[in-house]
Amino acid sequence: MRECTTQMDAARKGIITKELKIVAEKEHMQEEELRKLVAEGKAVICANKNHTCLNPEGVGSMLRTKINVNLGVSRDVKDYNVEMEKVMSAVNMGAEAIMDLSSHGDTRPFRQKLVQECPVMIGTVPVYDSVIHYQRDLDTLSAKDFVEVVRMHAQDGVDFVTLHCGITRKTIEQIRKHKRKMNIVSRGGSLVFAWMSMTGEENPFYEYFDEILDICEEYDVTISLGDACRPGCLADATDVCQIEELVRLGELTKRAWDHNVQVMVEGPGHVPLNQVAANMEVQKSICMGAPFYVLGPLVTDIAPGYDHITAAIGGAVAAMSGAAFLCYVTPAEHLALPNLEDVRQGIVASKIAAHAADIAKGIPGARDIDDKMADARRALDWEAQFACAIDPERARAIRDDRLPEDDHSDTCSMCGKFCAVRSMNKALAGEHIDIL
Ligand code: SF4
Repeated sequence: MRECTTQMDAARKGIITKELKIVAEKEHMQEEELRKLVAEGKAVICANKNHTCLNPEGVGSMLRTKINVNLGVSRDVKDYNVEMEKVMSAVNMGAEAIMDLSSHGDTRPFRQKLVQECPVMIGTVPVYDSVIHYQRDLDTLSAKDFVEVVRMHAQDGVDFVTLHCGITRKTIEQIRKHKRKMNIVSRGGSLVFAWMSMTGEENPFYEYFDEILDICEEYDVTISLGDACRPGCLADATDVCQIEELVRLGELTKRAWDHNVQVMVEGPGHVPLNQVAANMEVQKSICMGAPFYVLGPLVTDIAPGYDHITAAIGGAVAAMSGAAFLCYVTPAEHLALPNLEDVRQGIVASKIAAHAADIAKGIPGARDIDDKMADARRALDWEAQFACAIDPERARAIRDDRLPEDDHSDTCSMCGKFCAVRSMNKALAGEHIDIL
């Protein structure tokens, strides 16, 4: 692998890297089949050469759907150790990626700690960090300042970086002309837009894309092409601004691949349920099958407090239709910084969406655990049921809180002695069935 620059470069040279070997095994896939997908850009293995404790995962629509959890130090939660605890609990709950969106203080020590201790893929959004790193107003930063932050994150061992390369000065005109209801809701996208508006210059991530490709190639950092124009409400879904940016992301995908740099493409956003599958098809076609990383999509605008559910509905349909990677959404979305319980609920909702999609897509082995759960339910074996559950702790707590009153504790308090499972087990075994 050392003679190769990136996982894509190795795959194109016919080399099976140790990371690819691990991912193929996890995915129950032939190494050669996965190698071909990585070589074509249809699957990525985000593995920075400096992230030495990484347990690698692949991202691609033919692989298990992966989920990402956003965390990081902020003005309200400054304690590195508290945030690290959240990271490790997210990893234990099954998150395959952590995006460090730290936005306060000296962000570098936390990022470096994350790379040293966290075994899952780590992503960042360098434009957030630029203002914090330089401690200067946005309009005083030069294009090269942004590029240097990308370099610093790459050196620190970050596996993927979100770069909002797709909005250009033309986008400024589009946003003004098309009068979207929610304008730009991407935090990174709005910063790039604001910088371009204040300085009159072109998007630095677009203008210096070749230089950024050199950095990403050197460290094997996967570029996650950010969707600055992702719709922030149903009314803006699939509009000119979103599609125009997507076309540019397709062009940039091609340029990155020519450099052997791995690419994911980020996607919507708020999208009506009937447009979700079409959005996935359009992305696959324009971005030539590069893995699609979606936030949600949220299928209604009116459920603050429950947006982990609106996102899971959209995420399941998106992943079933080709999205490879789901960014979790918590109940606190649109309202506040998520607390530990919000993070937990967001992860569970995303895991359900990803798993449901994997079953629908026929991912090898995906349904095995559901079949195991059905066997455990038929046997009224509660311990075995908890072992199969996505959130065993919660399942156990609910049952224990409301156990049946009588001694038929093999049933639950939902139906008690009217338990259909118990009645059928007894009837088929020729036993007497006592109901009263
Ligand atoms: S009591 Fe009702 S809900 Fe509970 S296990 Fe039996 S059939 Fe299922």
